[in-house]
Amino acid sequence: MTDFKGKAVLVIGGSRGIGAAIVRRFAGDGADVTFTYAGSKEAADTLASEIGAKAVKSDAGNRNDTIATVKAAGALDVLVVNAGTLVMGDPLETNPDAVDRMIDINVRAPYHAAVEAARQMNDGGRIIIIGSVNGDRMPFAGGAAYALTKSAVQGMARGLARDFGPRNITVNVIQPGPIDTDMNPADGPMKDTMHGFMALKRHGRPEEIAGLAAYLAGPEGGFMTGALHTIDGGMAA
Ligand code: NDP
Repeated sequence: MTDFKGKAVLVIGGSRGIGAAIVRRFAGDGADVTFTYAGSKEAADTLASEIGAKAVKSDAGNRNDTIATVKAAGALDVLVVNAGTLVMGDPLETNPDAVDRMIDINVRAPYHAAVEAARQMNDGGRIIIIGSVNGDRMPFAGGAAYALTKSAVQGMARGLARDFGPRNITVNVIQPGPIDTDMNPADGPMKDTMHGFMALKRHGRPEEIAGLAAYLAGPEGGFMTGALHTIDGGMAA
């Protein structure tokens, strides 16, 4: 447990999966947590009332929506951009609109959210973007577009770390490997293929990613910035 009492935290995409675990972790550690959702109103409302957080409907694929939501959240101590989608398949057959929508959510949203948050962010604030081990390694076919979105946030974090460093604001990317969520269920059809690439033959738990987010946002994480933090059961090893 880390003490986040009195800290203002915004999680973009917090209704399910990894985002929900991050919301739970920060709220459990005493933070005032606001999180966004797009499609899962019921899950968001249930989570918010269970832990005393605030749920806001905001489409990360819409730049104006994202900027307005971050602005309305006021002076943050921690921003976590978790919202993401996965479009996989033969690039020759994949709908280009679906690819562009994924780029909007996975790349443009983290950038605009981070920049908008920095306008009002408290000195010493923390910006955390949920990338993927696929930003470093794409070990099977069909993932080119997803991998490009997760590589893009690497450069973004390095650059923004330089921009905001003088205010002691850190910018980091967490790069999960396979994590048991709706996006990538531990008993899904890709399970054996993925475990074959890993040193640890299991999916990770969302709480394991939340623990790393809490570390990066806490007092011991203050000297880490512009860095990629891979937590992948050895998939990239
Ligand atoms: P899930 O599909 O289980 O959950 C996705 C979350 O993102 C939901 O809360 C969803 O909210 C939100 N979200 C999606 N699109 C939008 C949008 N347009 N606007 C606002 N919120 C949105 O995914 P995971 O929890 O597995 O993934 C979370 C992040 O972790 C993603 O960035 C993903 O790429 C990354 N990741 C996941 C891995 C895994 O194996 N699970 C591995 C590596 C990285 P709602 O339902 O309300 O729309």
